[in-house]
Amino acid sequence: MMTHAPSHNDTLSPLGIVHAKIAKAAKTAGRKPEDIELIAISKLHPAEAALPLIAEGQRVFGENRVQEALEKWPALIKETPDIRLHCVGQLQSNKAKTAVELFDAIHSVDRPSLIEALARAMDTLDKRPECFIQVNIGEEEQKGGCDIADTKAILKQCRDAGIPIIGLMSVPPLEVEPAPYFALTVKMAHDLGLPAVSIGMSADYELAITLGATHIRVGTALFGHRA
Ligand SMILES: *Cc1c(COP(=O)(O)O)cnc(C)c1O
Repeated sequence: MMTHAPSHNDTLSPLGIVHAKIAKAAKTAGRKPEDIELIAISKLHPAEAALPLIAEGQRVFGENRVQEALEKWPALIKETPDIRLHCVGQLQSNKAKTAVELFDAIHSVDRPSLIEALARAMDTLDKRPECFIQVNIGEEEQKGGCDIADTKAILKQCRDAGIPIIGLMSVPPLEVEPAPYFALTVKMAHDLGLPAVSIGMSADYELAITLGATHIRVGTALFGHRA
């Protein structure tokens, strides 16, 4: 009987494949792979789905709902205390305190009421997760994020309130070429003097890296399709 000896080279895990693609895109762009933070988006997958990634060394994870994150992550973080959790979804002001307690970074700061709630929570807890301003880069009706024209004022309001903003985050419109939206997000961050840009998901993270992403938010390519 033939035995098939598994080779590490041809049996890359999903995480291994994503790492290889990050390295390739970074090289193409003359960037260093270590300057790109991979956030593994585990939303709608059970806690156990994160275990193989944690075993492979992934430490940065993201969720889009506070409640779901609260149900899944405290136990995992207890086991692996150096896990860093990012909030990438729309955040309601009444969840601000829980979010500040649970997350190490928040990508969706986008309006005055939320800024006030986050600032109060950060003062109360004396904890200041790194934050991104989410920009509604495609100027879509239903989408989260501040208007492009309001970004500078939102940044000032965050700074006045003591919220540490490190960059901009955006989600381009569905089913259109994302490159112009990524490029605009990168340019806006540059013009505002912000070092971080959270752009790129499973379908387009390599493109986002070539255009300047510092943080990529990858779910499906690591965890498979969501129910
Ligand atoms: C779900 C989600 C992602 C990940 O999307 P994939 O296409 O599965 O990689 C990234 N960013 C945000 C804000 C999300 O809600």
